[in-house]
Amino acid sequence: MRATIGLLLVVTLTGVCGLALAKDHDDSGSAADSVAATFPVLSGISTGKTRVIDMTYTLNGKLPSWPGDDKTFETQVVATYAKDGYFARSFWTLEHYSTHLDAPLHFAPGKASVAQIPVTHFFGPAEVIDVRDEAAKDPDYRLTAARVEKWEAAHRRIPAGAIVLLRTGWASRWPDQKRYRNQDAHGVMHFPGFGADAAKLLVARGAVGLGIDTLSIDYGASKNFEVHHVDLPAGLYNLENLANLDQLPATGAFLIAAPIKMEGGSGGPCRVFAILPEAK
Ligand SMILES: [Zn+2]
Repeated sequence: MRATIGLLLVVTLTGVCGLALAKDHDDSGSAADSVAATFPVLSGISTGKTRVIDMTYTLNGKLPSWPGDDKTFETQVVATYAKDGYFARSFWTLEHYSTHLDAPLHFAPGKASVAQIPVTHFFGPAEVIDVRDEAAKDPDYRLTAARVEKWEAAHRRIPAGAIVLLRTGWASRWPDQKRYRNQDAHGVMHFPGFGADAAKLLVARGAVGLGIDTLSIDYGASKNFEVHHVDLPAGLYNLENLANLDQLPATGAFLIAAPIKMEGGSGGPCRVFAILPEAK
């Protein structure tokens, strides 16, 4: 009698487990399908339908830096396979070096540090203003409000929540520091940037961030960083030294900026991605 009960118990448990396994399998399948249906562009990343552009330079100590920033990035091995069974390093870097984010705190006392920027601001449509022609003629070129309006007439009004990127063509000089800084005999740098009136218009449009393929969103010869004084106090952030801006259309890409979350940071290294639904 006991044996029979035991047998029945085993059979029953096996039956329950079998059902549970089958149920789990079905659930995970439909859950994945439902996630894919809800996020078609994001799900397309793993299937290859959506393109991801990495707009980040690889960090090392040999990249163009701001004049005077001689020590930029260092690493030290703290564990080795031979000694510790695993490999690990420590690193030191400037907050503003290579592809990085300027937090409002960089120029505006009491404003958000890099750790305090609302995470929702790190996601937004990328609006790309291409000023390569202007910058090729004039390395001191500054984007004007009128030029933004001209771009809007050709494309669309800059939407609230946008991340506005200025494509100057300067990335073609990376990582040649001399050409990227483009300093004259007096040490003054000459590269293009946003202008203050353009920045004011973009703040008014509700942009959450500005980005550029040079060392600074202000033009190189700037003495007082006018644009930084306009957009950072308004709560926007800046992305500087962006890579692969040439691969983005004027509109249609979606940007994800993921800076290091460092307490009290005036900014910091930032991984920047653009995602593009592929037509092909
Ligand atoms: Zn910076």
